[in-house]
Amino acid sequence: MDVRMQIAMVFHLDKCIGCHTCSIACKNIWTDRKGAEYMWWNNVETKPGTGYPTRWEDQENYHGGWEVKDGKLRLKSTGKLRTVFNIYHNPSMPTMDDYYEPWTYDYQTLFNAPQGDDQPTARPLSMVTGKPMDIEAGPNWDDDLGGSPIYAEHDLNLKGLTPDQQAQLSAVERLVYFYFPRICNHCLNPSCVAACPSGALYKRGEDGIVLLDQKRCRGWRACVAACPYKKVYFNWSTGKSEKCILCFPRLETGQAPACFHSCVGRIRYLGAILYDAERIEETARRPNEELVEAHRSLILDPHDPVVIDAARRNGIHDSVIDSAQRSPVYKFVKTWKIALPPHIEYRTLPMLFYVPPMSPVMANQNGNTISHAADGLFHDIDQCRLPLKFLANLFGAGNEEMVRYALRKQKAVRWYRRALTVGDVTMELAGRMLKEADSSVEEAEAIYQLTSLCTFEDRFVIPPMHREEALQMLEDPLVNKQSSGFGFVAGPRRGM
Ligand code: SF4
Ligand code: SF4
Repeated sequence: MDVRMQIAMVFHLDKCIGCHTCSIACKNIWTDRKGAEYMWWNNVETKPGTGYPTRWEDQENYHGGWEVKDGKLRLKSTGKLRTVFNIYHNPSMPTMDDYYEPWTYDYQTLFNAPQGDDQPTARPLSMVTGKPMDIEAGPNWDDDLGGSPIYAEHDLNLKGLTPDQQAQLSAVERLVYFYFPRICNHCLNPSCVAACPSGALYKRGEDGIVLLDQKRCRGWRACVAACPYKKVYFNWSTGKSEKCILCFPRLETGQAPACFHSCVGRIRYLGAILYDAERIEETARRPNEELVEAHRSLILDPHDPVVIDAARRNGIHDSVIDSAQRSPVYKFVKTWKIALPPHIEYRTLPMLFYVPPMSPVMANQNGNTISHAADGLFHDIDQCRLPLKFLANLFGAGNEEMVRYALRKQKAVRWYRRALTVGDVTMELAGRMLKEADSSVEEAEAIYQLTSLCTFEDRFVIPPMHREEALQMLEDPLVNKQSSGFGFVAGPRRGM
């Protein structure tokens, strides 16, 4: 057992209100410089929808992530030989149209316009050509357009849904959609790191954050193609790639990342988990239907004395183990099993998990009475307005059972709370539902507390970073200064 620590995350999708505060917080802190205009390290998509960049989930086109060939893991986008042929032009890259043409406004015309009868307006100007342009796309262009024939109908996750289910998803007045915030997943098996011919991308040993060394990057862009979530971007001004850094300078000082801190819906949770690094490759090679469970089994019980011993032997500090024991991520992913990884079939083993959203509550109306009770306790989960298959394509590598389990438990918790506070459901019925959902009153209370009444300290259990013990800090700075970034003060620029 090779125990390591990783900062991991959970996004509770039922709580996301699509306000985009997270995206703006990140944009203002990290990507407001030249060349980063179009970059959204955090973006929020409407699902069903095509997302940003357009149809990023289409790996037939983008060739991101890993595949298993002859029993071995192989990058879809590149390999030793293919690197040579594709080094100046990678055919699987998104183009500017797949993102959008960045623009600004002609503010001077607005502010300096002479007094007149008409309201002056600021025309959009392209930040690429400087010329006036018509805006045709943006980072959340399909916001709230669930059901639309241009965006929602082209969602890749509709694959395998019957025509009836597809029609139901966009039926007028019954339309259903949810928000899907996305950041870099800081994967356990990151294809961006594996693809980089310059070795510029690396995963920090002490906390698993995936970073990109601006001094080493030569702008080959293999990472952009290889990341199946399209979370690495190319800066045309510096000639380097850039990506989400999980606000590591904030984490190192005990603060939550900016998008987590500012999240209005309080959907975001962050904590340490311990995992077994020895089993990463074997896990990533599993067949699709086993991937979620195998990925979950990589996460180790931080209370287990054997795990604690192995962690200590690997140099993990006791304060970090203590933090892993209090991690909200461990509870959602491993104890309660209600948070699932996005598109695990790309085999990068993402370390950001999502609690899948419940559909709107189904009810029967008899005259003036609305009845929520039905014969089957979980009838509306299999017939939910968001077809299970759709959620399974997104969160379960097609395995519906995983999503069904998470939704049943969430529903049972709601009914238990309803029995307690509203009283129109009997406690006996709520107890039966909890049992059928593999839960208990104690667990339901804990899920309710961490979902609804959580404080800042409950949501973000940030481990002490112990930079003094990090690998770079133990190396001789004079020997390793070029590889580890000691002493650089100049910003990145082309040709370095
Ligand atoms: S999400 Fe993409 S950029 Fe982030 S670690 Fe995974 S493969 Fe790399
Ligand atoms: S700030 Fe939070 S609630 Fe608002 S869109 Fe972002 S993740 Fe959702």
